[in-house]
Amino acid sequence: MTLADIGEFGFIDRIRQGCLIRPQSVIRAIGDDAAAYEPAVGELVLVTTDLLVERVHFLKAATSGFNLGHKALAVNLSDIAAMGGTARQAFVGIAVPESCSLAYLEDFYRGMQSLAGEYGVNILGGDTTASKSDLAISITVTGSVPAAQMLCRDGARPGDHICVSGFLGDSRAGLHLILNHITPETPAFRNLFQAHVLPRPCLAEGRFLACSGAVSAAIDVSDGLSADLWQIARSSRVGACLHADRIPLSKDLHRFCNHFGYDALEYALAGGEDYTLLFTVEPTHFQAVEQGFSEQFGNPLHVIGQITDSGKLEIESAGGRRTPLTPSGWNHFKPG
Ligand SMILES: [Mg+2]
Repeated sequence: MTLADIGEFGFIDRIRQGCLIRPQSVIRAIGDDAAAYEPAVGELVLVTTDLLVERVHFLKAATSGFNLGHKALAVNLSDIAAMGGTARQAFVGIAVPESCSLAYLEDFYRGMQSLAGEYGVNILGGDTTASKSDLAISITVTGSVPAAQMLCRDGARPGDHICVSGFLGDSRAGLHLILNHITPETPAFRNLFQAHVLPRPCLAEGRFLACSGAVSAAIDVSDGLSADLWQIARSSRVGACLHADRIPLSKDLHRFCNHFGYDALEYALAGGEDYTLLFTVEPTHFQAVEQGFSEQFGNPLHVIGQITDSGKLEIESAGGRRTPLTPSGWNHFKPG
């Protein structure tokens, strides 16, 4: 069965249940000309959109509907996390080719709904239409944050510590397994696969950092550590120096790199789609933030470098040698 068999309204009837997670403050959900909800009182509204196109961003044959739905929503929630906000509502536009089964679409919605349920996000509307060939998904998520707590990219100052909230490079290793049709049979490879297909948006971590008042700039790692750090440095008109031996690499990534003969640091610097938070902290407040973070989340914060006034990205080896670092991330417009 496909979308053509039941029509857009038949489809909406099937997926409507499970879309309204937090009905308080929602005046009109799916089923009217527009959604209506009351914004969080005294907070700024955050809005983010992400567009995913089959064969450009994902391979449908290699992705279950559930995992695709999870990831399509997760990447948007991650952007709200990077602003220090609370995610509130999601709007889902999909263009569906005739070859796409109804079962796949319903599975896609199940993936979104399970993540939305976990983070208290309503799916309040969207649009479903036919496509000539590829599946395309556009999700818009709104969130909110008290103005004084909002985390932006442009506040980093020389001397600030550069921190990340988790491992880097795992997702890129998982993508390598998928692209090379390698079935993840060991626990290490399964974890890497999981990191790529089911990323966790760091919403609680983002709120914690926003409330700390000590974070000067933040971004989520989507394009790759070096590329995303460059976004902070460029916006803040500063430079940054990473310490190569302090970048957190998982045991799973080390196993993967030993197995295939790859450089784990390269995966961490240029991999992308980690969806951990990359942020800068004023040194005087660092100890309090570090302690609070590990108490609340059971994981340490990783200090991976310092903001400098050089205007450039650099990386320092364990031996103390500094070399320029090119902001190289995943580039969607680059062929191959
Ligand atoms: Mg982002």
